[in-house]
Amino acid sequence: MHRVGIRPSQIHEYMVQCSGGYSEVGYMRRDVENVVASQKRKQLQDFDSESCIAYLNGKKSSDPSFYFEYTIDDEHRLGDIFWCDGGCRADYAIFGDVIAFDTTYRTNAYLKPLVVIVGINHHYKTTIFGFALLTAETEQAYTWLLVTFLHAMEGKHPKAVLTDGDKAMRKAISTTLPQSIHRLCCWHLERNAQSNVGRTEFTADFKDCMLYTKDHQDFQDKWDAMVRKHQVESNEWVKKMYVDRNLWAEPYFKWQFLGGMRSTQRCEGFNAFLNYYVNRKLRLIEFVDQIDRLMSKQREMEGKDDFDSSYGSPVLCTHLRQYEQQAGEIYTKSMFEKVRTELNKEGLLFIKGYVDDISTRTYSIGEFRKANKEWKVVFHHQTKLAACQCQLLERLGIPCSHSYTVLKAEDVQSIPECMQLMRWLKTAKINNPPQNDDQAEKVYMSKLVRIGLVNAACKSLQYLAGNSLKAYKEAMKGIHSLTLRLQSMSLTTTEQDFERNPDVI
Ligand SMILES: [Zn+2]
Repeated sequence: MHRVGIRPSQIHEYMVQCSGGYSEVGYMRRDVENVVASQKRKQLQDFDSESCIAYLNGKKSSDPSFYFEYTIDDEHRLGDIFWCDGGCRADYAIFGDVIAFDTTYRTNAYLKPLVVIVGINHHYKTTIFGFALLTAETEQAYTWLLVTFLHAMEGKHPKAVLTDGDKAMRKAISTTLPQSIHRLCCWHLERNAQSNVGRTEFTADFKDCMLYTKDHQDFQDKWDAMVRKHQVESNEWVKKMYVDRNLWAEPYFKWQFLGGMRSTQRCEGFNAFLNYYVNRKLRLIEFVDQIDRLMSKQREMEGKDDFDSSYGSPVLCTHLRQYEQQAGEIYTKSMFEKVRTELNKEGLLFIKGYVDDISTRTYSIGEFRKANKEWKVVFHHQTKLAACQCQLLERLGIPCSHSYTVLKAEDVQSIPECMQLMRWLKTAKINNPPQNDDQAEKVYMSKLVRIGLVNAACKSLQYLAGNSLKAYKEAMKGIHSLTLRLQSMSLTTTEQDFERNPDVI
């Protein structure tokens, strides 16, 4: 009846008449509307969209932790679409403190802006949290995306968000993620500086103001000098940028953990890949399939990074061997390099003096041949925390050179646990179960995370086993005996797991 144009309310009335009364018909008007709506969804007019949804449905049935959501517009066409897999959700539980919305691929074959939500993993590399194709760049579309994303991630909000500064996106973030710090991407700002003022020298000065200012006064001085030098007092873009300075100037983010992220464009290989596929006229389903391959490839690379970090110990080369050795053992390879740089810098520092308090001692640290430089480091006797004024620990999550001078003076034998950020350690994905106050959420999420983590761990295995026939045989033998052992433990899922999401079972 609906197919020939009869409205749900009329269908219901007709059925009531045929069956002899409202109580006889066996369902409500609302039920008819629901059936009609679900049929509408099935009858997407666009065959490509339809097969794309079917493809994602297929993925969902083979991977219970796969998540996707879409909208249908009034003309039965596919609207906005968001998807991510169990690996993304597991990674977000651990590395979701800072996220970036990469919307570089605005114009593409589908006429839908592609949004890639990314973060940084323990190897300091880009990790993907989800993809979305939106119908339009409106506040409404971005709000839908953010709400859907949070739903997929069990409501966990990021501490900081990086975007390219799109107005609609900014509004959506301020209402949906009101607690998250928002920073604009420095790569986009630099590009905008060039296109709005059009002088390379100005762009360089602007970059200097944006990234290399110590504090608010330093920023103000540099900004004033730059505006005078280039005579851009009346430039609208420059004026607007000054008003919005709390969204992009370094001194405003001194205390904020951003995991070293300043730009939404972190991974060049990744961008090149997307550029290639976004602009070829692939059908939507082919595109989604290609993105799937990209994800597998990225995970395989992570497996290789895990392997590289786990084997072989670095040659110790700093004067603080004890800390360096410990750092080599606990940090991933790329983070260890950053820790080592700080250890090396310590060689030029010295203690100028200190002041005692009840539970703390505040050191003044100087640097060789830099008479005007001084840092204050507060050492807490009980926790062994050395908190430095330079805030590197807060911003990047690794101890700074100044704090090593203090740890050394206090005869602290190893980098204190309170100064190690879990997300940078080799064990980030092993010893880092997500913390959530809600018990039911915890049980459900930890199951998803376990599935995702086992998946990630297997990538490392795949990488190694693929190397030779011998490795392959050894791996298969191991998998077989491990599977038997797990089966004999006859592990069962808890009731809470079942209640929360029967699909997982
Ligand atoms: Zn410091």
